[in-house]
Amino acid sequence: MPTAQLEQLRVDPGEPARLAERDPRDTLGLEKEEAEKQTKKLRERIDELQYLLFAEAKRAVLLLLQGVDASGKDGVIRRVFAGVNPQGVRVTSFKAPVGAEVEHDYLWRIHAALPPRGTIGVFNRSHYEDIVTVGVLGLFPEEVWRRRGGHIREFERMLADEGTATAKVFLNVSRREQRERLQERIDDPQKRWKFRPGDLDVSERYDEYLAAYDAAITETSTEWAPWHVVPADRNWVKTYATASIVCEILERLDPKLPEGPEAS
Ligand code: AMP
Ligand code: MG
Repeated sequence: MPTAQLEQLRVDPGEPARLAERDPRDTLGLEKEEAEKQTKKLRERIDELQYLLFAEAKRAVLLLLQGVDASGKDGVIRRVFAGVNPQGVRVTSFKAPVGAEVEHDYLWRIHAALPPRGTIGVFNRSHYEDIVTVGVLGLFPEEVWRRRGGHIREFERMLADEGTATAKVFLNVSRREQRERLQERIDDPQKRWKFRPGDLDVSERYDEYLAAYDAAITETSTEWAPWHVVPADRNWVKTYATASIVCEILERLDPKLPEGPEAS
């Protein structure tokens, strides 16, 4: 993806995220066929760079995905990493905390799931649930989740300093598209297993979630761990955009093969 376009998706540090002004149906100036062609090339490049990252074994990449329910996080992961060596990628999906997770601070399980050096980690949901979902559902008092933006900025700064490059992607799906996808989960027998009775309540609260994401993204888009807002109503657009973001962060790291031992 051209650099200028990537920059448009990026939320500049210190600037408001302005989610409501970003079009979830944007095609980024491409036709589907062309975008799919580009995506294929990006995947191949991600696979090459992943190999070098692994061989170098010094740094790691974290792709963190957030979005309201039915924004398509699972599908993006499947499509972007199809064809990338599974040994080099580890996906972690975060649900509501249980057991030992509840007995520790909210970053405990996050820290434990971070990618080891030489690998790419993908977070399907993340510590941002501990601000956004916790705030919208009122799971903790406001003073508890309000201060988390500050913790998270510093936590992510530490990761950057210590060799983990983070790209954060918000899948920006429209209320209408979300509603349709949730309805499909009811209507389509192949998808019904995904449906949970609370899903339609979540959809009723779309505006609240969006406002909460807007505030959290604005507060935590930083030079060392920037947010990108990806138009998510069309699968081929969000796949292409997310693959571009992953590829760019790897290109920027520019991992190199280490010198092997001398053959004698
Ligand atoms: P899914 O990603 O569809 O499997 O759903 C996971 C559910 O877990 C979502 O409803 C999330 O909002 C919820 N969840 C994930 N992390 C947290 C958290 N830290 N606090 C509360 N709910 C969470
Ligand atoms: Mg889901």
